[in-house]
Amino acid sequence: MVTELRPSTLAPALAQLNAEPTLIFAGGTDLMVHELKPHNAILFVDAIEELQQIEVYENSIRIGAGCRLAQLVEHTALPRNLVQALHQIAAPALRNVATIGGNIVNASPAADSLPALTLLDAKVCLQNVNGERWLPIDEFIIGPGKTILQPGEMLTQVEIARIPCHHSMYHKVGTRAANALSKLSVAALARFDDSGALEDWRIAFGAVAPTVVRNRDIELSLIGCKPEEVDMEQLLGSYDALLHPIDDQRSTAEYRRRASLNLLKHWMEQLQQ
Ligand SMILES: Cc1cc2nc3c(=O)[nH]c(=O)nc-3n(C[C@H](O)[C@H](O)[C@H](O)COP(=O)(O)OP(=O)(O)OC[C@H]3O[C@@H](n4cnc5c(N)ncnc54)[C@H](O)[C@@H]3O)c2cc1C
Repeated sequence: MVTELRPSTLAPALAQLNAEPTLIFAGGTDLMVHELKPHNAILFVDAIEELQQIEVYENSIRIGAGCRLAQLVEHTALPRNLVQALHQIAAPALRNVATIGGNIVNASPAADSLPALTLLDAKVCLQNVNGERWLPIDEFIIGPGKTILQPGEMLTQVEIARIPCHHSMYHKVGTRAANALSKLSVAALARFDDSGALEDWRIAFGAVAPTVVRNRDIELSLIGCKPEEVDMEQLLGSYDALLHPIDDQRSTAEYRRRASLNLLKHWMEQLQQ
């Protein structure tokens, strides 16, 4: 017989995870479309209030893993490109139950939250009965559907940096406007100094490699340049070498590569205006 628990606080949830192998069930929108492996216990986390808090600090925002996407897109303190990304996940009915924690732990290369979270230097908090550990999201997700979450642990929070910027965007390319997973996606932001040179410039690509593609060395090489001074051929070539898209039912590898690089080029042209 399967044990089902629906605690209203975190402590009994962590105790259950410590006691036996247990499936964590948040909104269930990923879990319910896959054939589930048999589990002795299922932990429903939707009633745990500690997982649904949003804490806004001067330089960061902590988002509870159990926050629903619909709740997050209404929050005025969240960065624009993250809100744009969450707003393009599926459709309203699904966003009313799906959580950001589920989107992260599911670790799909096409997950819409991941490029924006990576761009915003997100860190995840993993908790078990003994305490917590924080680590960058790009160390937490190690491949399609793969994370370093250990038995007994739960994702409880994700922290993003509050980064001042003049321009930001999230662009998703899908088959339809709603209820379509990304063929590819791009999140970016830029800030200028008083002379018009780039003071911060970041870009992250989704669905073109096993995990999100972001390269801090390339980003840093643009700091201090005006957008019109950037060598576009070199920039496109640098990112071209980092993209490793695949052919699948949603798109071809070639389309993913070309469209991603076109979006990068378009983003740089917008910054020149
Ligand atoms: C029709 C449809 C359309 C979709 N469209 C999109 C889309 O456009 N973009 C997109 O990115 N995704 C899409 N998805 C995927 C899905 O809706 C999202 O990934 C969603 O955010 C998952 O959240 P959830 O709360 O439902 O996760 P669940 O299904 O409950 O869980 C997903 C995984 O995360 C684990 N988990 C959940 N919470 C925790 C936690 N706190 N700690 C540890 N592990 C946890 C679960 O055990 C499971 O392995 C779509 C799904 C469907 C069915």
